[in-house]
Amino acid sequence: MQLNFIDNQSTTSATGRTLPVIDPSDGQPYDDIQRSDARDIDSAVQAAHRCFDGSWQRLSAAERGRLLMALSRKVAEHADELAAIEQRDCGKPTKQAVADAAALVRYFEFYAGACDKLHGHTIPYQSGTSVLTWREPHGVTGHIVPWNYPMQIFGRSVGGALAAGNCCVVKPSEDACLSLIRVAELAAEAGFPPGAINIVTGYGHEVGDALARHAGIDHISFTGSPTVGTLIQQAAAERHCPVTLELGGKSPQIVFADADLDAAIPVIINAIVQNAGQTCSAGSRLLVEQSLYGELIGRLAQAFEALRVGPAAMDLDVGPLIRQSQQERVWEFLNDAQAAGIATVAQGRIVDEAPESGFYQVPVLLADVPQNHRVAQDEVFGPVLSAMSFSDEDHAVALANATRFGLVAGVWTRDGARQFRMARRVRSGQVFINNYGAGGGVELPFGGFKSSGYGREKGFEALYGFTTLKTVAVRHG
Ligand code: NAD
Repeated sequence: MQLNFIDNQSTTSATGRTLPVIDPSDGQPYDDIQRSDARDIDSAVQAAHRCFDGSWQRLSAAERGRLLMALSRKVAEHADELAAIEQRDCGKPTKQAVADAAALVRYFEFYAGACDKLHGHTIPYQSGTSVLTWREPHGVTGHIVPWNYPMQIFGRSVGGALAAGNCCVVKPSEDACLSLIRVAELAAEAGFPPGAINIVTGYGHEVGDALARHAGIDHISFTGSPTVGTLIQQAAAERHCPVTLELGGKSPQIVFADADLDAAIPVIINAIVQNAGQTCSAGSRLLVEQSLYGELIGRLAQAFEALRVGPAAMDLDVGPLIRQSQQERVWEFLNDAQAAGIATVAQGRIVDEAPESGFYQVPVLLADVPQNHRVAQDEVFGPVLSAMSFSDEDHAVALANATRFGLVAGVWTRDGARQFRMARRVRSGQVFINNYGAGGGVELPFGGFKSSGYGREKGFEALYGFTTLKTVAVRHG
């Protein structure tokens, strides 16, 4: 049985109720988490405020950095254990779970080094007055985390918030929270004081909502669906609480006729099958210049046919989806596509060892997808790549920007001037030229344009979002 972690103590929820933890590889329950409610959130927020108002604010930036570095080392020592926990909880192939644990180490390391480098400014003002700005923490930050990359999203969000001097209350997803409970225990062992990091598990509409509404939360970092993002904004608006939203995407891979296909093909495939397509920055749309279209679809089709899907522990190309409802969501998109006459040109295969009760979905390559069909407009959040062709650069830009999202884009071309033109014209938070990072890059600011959200996490930029600015004017004559 898994417990909440509040004030550096493992505690049962006030409700006394639990939720089962399901293994996506076989659909079977194997553990329980606390089904908490608003009372548990209140305990966590109070603990965080006691910490913030007490020992935490007295720490220097360098001391905060040392604590984060100690946590980075602790996570590195326990990386195999954490990867194994998250592998079973999320159904991740071993290589992905190992990469996620390594990213968590790196997030804490990066933010450890960043703590004492967040500077303010001095501003020329009236004669006899000196003006300076300080970046101050919000206080207690709330973090609502989804199930697709619990460790990575915890690292980028909580790592940045702690580095900036906040104390944190975290609501992981009810579908995947075990690794984060363990990380909070490790943080206590690494020396984080009681209340600095608190974990409260349960349903979004119960604990997530209570967190978003709690008057003691001074900033909310939400990563998840656009629909819930709207609810978070509405709750935060009631009390003018600042919010960072990391929502979904429908990110294009834009391939021009002069692209290096040998370099592009494996990256394009990985960007849609990584984590079974359950990645906000998955490269889920493929836009190909007309003259290359037939050749590239042919080569991708061959590669898709070779993809194998199976239990997480088999470490194949693709693991299971997170839960049955996610599987049904993907089937619904595929049924709609089929009804609209969209051609499935290739798909992978589920291995015989995969239990019937697991939540498996083969990778699917769809060709000639009309750009206004929902499979080209909405997040499938499964391994489904929608391909379409474009006639020229203007057409490529128009298609790339023709969804409500704007998270990441990939551009494949050898033409240097076009690389910069495309980077300027595509409306997304990140643009990769001749490479692609689906979720990668601890150092790289990450976040959306349009309905993909606002605010930035990752990199040094995140520290501006996790702080607020104070201007101090000293009249000295
Ligand atoms: P979700 O929005 O359903 O859940 C995200 C989190 O919000 C979970 O912890 C959930 O418990 C909580 N939640 C649900 N209802 C809530 C409510 N009423 N009030 C407060 N909290 C609530 O999303 P999901 O299914 O967990 O994740 C998939 C979605 O997240 C996709 O749309 C994906 O693109 C997006 N996502 C975005 C990023 C990013 O960085 N942009 C990263 C990962 C996932």
